Amino acid sequence: MDDIVVIGAGQAGATLVATLRRDGFAGKITLIGEEPVLPYERPPLSKAYLLGEMARERLYLRPAAFYADNDVEVITGLRVDTIDRGGKVVIAGDRQFPYDKLALCTGSVPRRLPEAIGGALPGVFTVRTLADVDAMAPLMRPDARALVVGGGYIGLEAAAVASKIGMRVTLVEMADRILSRVAAPETSDYFRALHRRHGVDIREGTGLQELTGEDRVTGAVLSHGETLAADVVIVGIGISPATALAEASEIVVENGIRTDAQGRTSDPDIWAAGDCASLPYRGRRIRLESVQNAIDQAECVARNMLGAGQDYVPYPWFWSDQYDCKLQIAGLSAGHDRIVTREGPEGSGQTAFWYYRGDTLLAVDAMNDARSYMVGKRLLEAGRSPDPAAVADPDTDLKALLKG
Ligand code: ADP
Repeated sequence: MDDIVVIGAGQAGATLVATLRRDGFAGKITLIGEEPVLPYERPPLSKAYLLGEMARERLYLRPAAFYADNDVEVITGLRVDTIDRGGKVVIAGDRQFPYDKLALCTGSVPRRLPEAIGGALPGVFTVRTLADVDAMAPLMRPDARALVVGGGYIGLEAAAVASKIGMRVTLVEMADRILSRVAAPETSDYFRALHRRHGVDIREGTGLQELTGEDRVTGAVLSHGETLAADVVIVGIGISPATALAEASEIVVENGIRTDAQGRTSDPDIWAAGDCASLPYRGRRIRLESVQNAIDQAECVARNMLGAGQDYVPYPWFWSDQYDCKLQIAGLSAGHDRIVTREGPEGSGQTAFWYYRGDTLLAVDAMNDARSYMVGKRLLEAGRSPDPAAVADPDTDLKALLKG
């Protein structure tokens, strides 16, 4: 094997090439990314970077010298058009990159509001790339009016930053509660209260009819017909896996690029990792949209490209920072039928423990409660379930559950 090409230079792609080298691959490595910058960290974009508290260079996952020292050719600002799988060549404009093995780390694309309702007006932003945030930053000024569309993590984190800047913030969530896709009702209650304390006007069960404005956005009509003025609109309505290239190349796609447990796609010489990959997990298929998954899966897939033959076993965890609250989630709550909540230390924290069939622990959501998170994560990794009644009892010493 001589040539490995990796398409997509985000967290997964950057991790994958570094792992190939670290594990001794001596052939040629080419990393191709569409964005005009070296691979960078996305989580700080909507937080410290947008607040101007973090310099651009600090976003880079590795300095340029790392790629040179490790003989990884990084090609930025280049969009791949197709993969000629028969000829084993990646085609990008008039350039061609032959491969023996190929990895797709194409990530995901933010969903946008339809153009017909004003989704393409200047002043309307998604929060995914450095370019998105660089474009938005100058409009984020004290007293300006921000409308945030979508009450998932992206929308809520954006609302927190806008409020910290001193903007007047309204957030609309179409579903009956914020975070309904990913978190327990108690967690939604916690974040609703937190945002309201910071002056964010959260409207649940409220969608958007349209954005208004001539040559830039100036307002919105909400689903109940109410109008409001807005200088900036931030759209956080979810992401879709970036599968267009795989589809065009006739690689099987099933809510993401379909892989086996080792990360191989329907083409045995092509692998996938990160947000774009749909992987088998406990009898179903999932996609994991998190930095931690991008790293762990890319490391595993890199080793498998070199012949390790290991199944990827995800131990999902995730975090979100909003104001002074750190939310940490371990596990996957899908399929739960019971939620037990526990007060955290000093009355400020709170944790939801998610169970399946009443007593099998699936996940924990911990708000400012590092101890419950740590205990829950370790129990999940060990495949153990604490007694729900013991968890709910504030007198239970959680650490004792680890020994039990
Ligand atoms: P993200 O990662 O962007 O935060 P999520 O899927 O977790 O994505 O959350 C997106 C939220 O946006 C969901 O709670 C969804 O109900 C909400 N949403 C989607 N479309 C609209 C819309 N047109 N108006 C208001 N809320 C929306």
